Amino acid sequence: MKTILVTGGAGFIGSNFIKLMLNRHPDYRIINVDALTYAGNLENLKDIKDNPNYIFIKADIRDRVKIDEIFTSYDIDNVVNFAAESHVDRSIVEPELFLTTNIIGTQVVLDVAKKHWNLKPNDKYCREYKSGVKFLQVSTDEVYGALGATGMFKETTPLMPNSPYSASKASADMIVRAYHETFGMPVNITRCSNNYGPNQFPEKLIPLMINNCLKDKDLPIYGDGMQIRDWLHVSDHCSAIDTVLHKGVVGEVYNVGGNNEKANIDIVKLIIKTMGKSETLIKHIKDRPGHDRRYAIDNTKITTQLG
Ligand code: NAD
Repeated sequence: MKTILVTGGAGFIGSNFIKLMLNRHPDYRIINVDALTYAGNLENLKDIKDNPNYIFIKADIRDRVKIDEIFTSYDIDNVVNFAAESHVDRSIVEPELFLTTNIIGTQVVLDVAKKHWNLKPNDKYCREYKSGVKFLQVSTDEVYGALGATGMFKETTPLMPNSPYSASKASADMIVRAYHETFGMPVNITRCSNNYGPNQFPEKLIPLMINNCLKDKDLPIYGDGMQIRDWLHVSDHCSAIDTVLHKGVVGEVYNVGGNNEKANIDIVKLIIKTMGKSETLIKHIKDRPGHDRRYAIDNTKITTQLG
């Protein structure tokens, strides 16, 4: 039986991923390690909590002793690392938390995985690993920075993060890359655009706007609302991660996006229309510092190479 350690599985994308994997691969065992911060909610997993192939462990990815214990107790084949502080606004208020969780946390899990997967863990030159193991880092298109009116992010686009959140994710990507280059660790990195769908914490744009519409509250829009994002349904992102986990060429980065660019203001107007509310609810507020203007993903590599 293949065992996958999913970190941050009580959050938005991780919970959707666990459900997709248990459904697609009923013979896999999923271990969900989550610290249950404000963003983690076990309600997201209530439909599958009694599945015999699902195990939940409350732990912080920065806790090396605990992560090591988990690797010792279970024969883990793959890690899919979702655990992160994920909200850009919070990263402006509390950057250090983002650096410790997103960078150090990733390095701790990588390091423990290396120790358990490497065939000669005490030999620093050994680049051989147990068969079938892989560490998949779930990253974001935000590591590339902002685009002007044209162009798209390719996997070769230089990293140019603008917020403490995206800088922490870019740093984690660098560490994952370094473990591959230096130690030969089998890794992949996925960089996806903005997700929408069930279980998203209501501080993010779409659930926030839906909630406020339901309560006839103001709909706060940063600046002119013309920030463009490439929106993808969370189930498509999860499906892409499953594909990269199984078919991704070791050491490679894959961008994930759905060619679906929309301005924030247009998303909000669509929600208002769908919910039968009035655009008078819209309130433009001061833009946040370092707010990226446009993201767009070139998904040629994953679509042509992995189908
Ligand atoms: P989320 O905030 O909804 O969930 C994060 C989860 O990680 C929560 O369950 C939280 O409890 C857990 N967590 C936080 N710190 C932890 C720690 N120290 N140890 C263990 N668990 C911890 O985030 P999300 O939107 O589901 O994003 C998941 C991943 O996908 C993140 O790495 C994010 O950078 C990436 N991503 C998100 C999007 C998006 O649109 N939401 C797009 C691309 C990539």
